[in-house]
Amino acid sequence: MEIELIDTGFFYADGGAMFGAIPKTSWSKRYPSNDTNGCVLAMRTVLVKTPGGRVILIDTGAGDKQLELLSYYKFYGLTDLAEELQKRGISRNDVTDVILTHLHFDHCGYVTLKNKETGTLELAFPNAKHWLSESQLQSFMHPHPLESASFMRENLDLAIQKGVVQLIQDDTSIYPGIMLKLYNGHSKGQLVPYIRGEKNTYLFAGDVVPLAASVSPHWISAYDTNPMLSYDEKIRMLDYAVKENQVVIFCHDAYTRCATIKKIGNFFKPDEVFDHSKYR
Ligand SMILES: [Zn+2]
Repeated sequence: MEIELIDTGFFYADGGAMFGAIPKTSWSKRYPSNDTNGCVLAMRTVLVKTPGGRVILIDTGAGDKQLELLSYYKFYGLTDLAEELQKRGISRNDVTDVILTHLHFDHCGYVTLKNKETGTLELAFPNAKHWLSESQLQSFMHPHPLESASFMRENLDLAIQKGVVQLIQDDTSIYPGIMLKLYNGHSKGQLVPYIRGEKNTYLFAGDVVPLAASVSPHWISAYDTNPMLSYDEKIRMLDYAVKENQVVIFCHDAYTRCATIKKIGNFFKPDEVFDHSKYR
């Protein structure tokens, strides 16, 4: 198994929104912010090459279709995912699977590409199965007003029309060593991929635990649609991670890429921190 973390760019999110009810006097000790309370967040994706020949992407970043609409987030350092793959000898057509943790714009924006002159959309990875949970798709199709601003139809509709979306209802092993589990709370039916490496299992925590600081169960983002459920689901994920000594990949943490987790009483903390981009 070859696992590589690829950052597709950065944006600013309000620290108050990222840490919900936690006061700034607490969260500012664990995550930096600027003078307008902006926290730099990464948009991290993962490229997985399996021994069986699958070329899998986990999430895609925001892409560049909605940068003007989303200018509040001050995106910067954006990379083109296709160019990043090309540097590694992989073309867009070679990608066999795209696992979409959920459909918020910062995770799935690069599923479709827009021709700047004609406005025509095309699939970025036309030969890939696009894995998604059925309950997440339902939320996307019929969004609650509190979540609707995070969903952009032009990011996914073409994939649905082309029949490349593969829906799952429950925890599912999709290939040897690749398991998808569902976690609720941040958004319905968020997929968390577990990748079995040589020594460790790596899990892409998505927005269940977006930052190393978010491992504290109470530190729940104000973007979460069901915070009580987020709390329970985070504990379920982290208890499993502690028990199996899994490496948690933080998709939005601009400073800490991944870590194992330790439990002290009812609290969780990052234990061994890893800063490589490649794992096996
Ligand atoms: Zn999200």
